[in-house]
Amino acid sequence: MAQNARPDGIVFLGTGGARIVVARQLRSSGGIWLSLAGTELLLDPGPGSLVKMTGSRFHLDPSRLSGVLLSHRHLDHSGDVNNIIEAITFGGTRPHGMLFAPDDALEGEDPVVFRYLRGFLDKVVRLEEGGEYRVGNVVFTCPVRHRHRGEVYGFRFAVPGLSVSYVADTAFFAELADFYRADVAIINVVRHQASELDHLHSFEAEELIGRMRPRLAVLTHFGMTMLKAKPWLVAREISNRTGIKVIAASDGRRILLEEYRDAS
Ligand SMILES: [Zn+2]
Repeated sequence: MAQNARPDGIVFLGTGGARIVVARQLRSSGGIWLSLAGTELLLDPGPGSLVKMTGSRFHLDPSRLSGVLLSHRHLDHSGDVNNIIEAITFGGTRPHGMLFAPDDALEGEDPVVFRYLRGFLDKVVRLEEGGEYRVGNVVFTCPVRHRHRGEVYGFRFAVPGLSVSYVADTAFFAELADFYRADVAIINVVRHQASELDHLHSFEAEELIGRMRPRLAVLTHFGMTMLKAKPWLVAREISNRTGIKVIAASDGRRILLEEYRDAS
């Protein structure tokens, strides 16, 4: 591990999702900073990501990022991606870093990553279903295409002794549990109750957690109905019913991962 490496951990730059919460910034929408085995990654930098990172008490310097990963092109997941590329590379004067994104975030009618910025990076990689990728010391996969508007993938990260999965926006399907089984599971739970939207609600999240049986499940990406239900209460109820440690993410919070390592 590199000198001065951060401990393995997750900082939630934002925990809000969907239109109203993001438009009003009832919760921030800055995405997730993931430190694993000395490699720094940023997932889904929605609006406010750069501000939240530079203002974080954990000293999250964007120029230390090795990779930026977009699960999909929706604004609450990608709104700050261009700012971040500028910040990582000091406006292209210190080119480095990798961007991973689905094809429709990069090409087609409405790409969300400015073309002139792409050359500032070492590499821009198109994600594919079943793909396996390496960035720094981390290997990750996109195990399955999600059921959500556009092209959407979640991620399953692995470093020796520790796996972390990120279940990005999707409608529920039972196989999700098999694809994302990991020591730590981060799950985007937009809705409290069932709806017509292509998002997980809290009871589906509970079913997933019960099937996946991670050492820790973290709920995030809350829409209005989840905020009204108080995410920390929802997490406690799921925890009580499944016997699994479940917590609700909050803006700016860091979760250290050492205790969730698989020591076997
Ligand atoms: Zn979405």
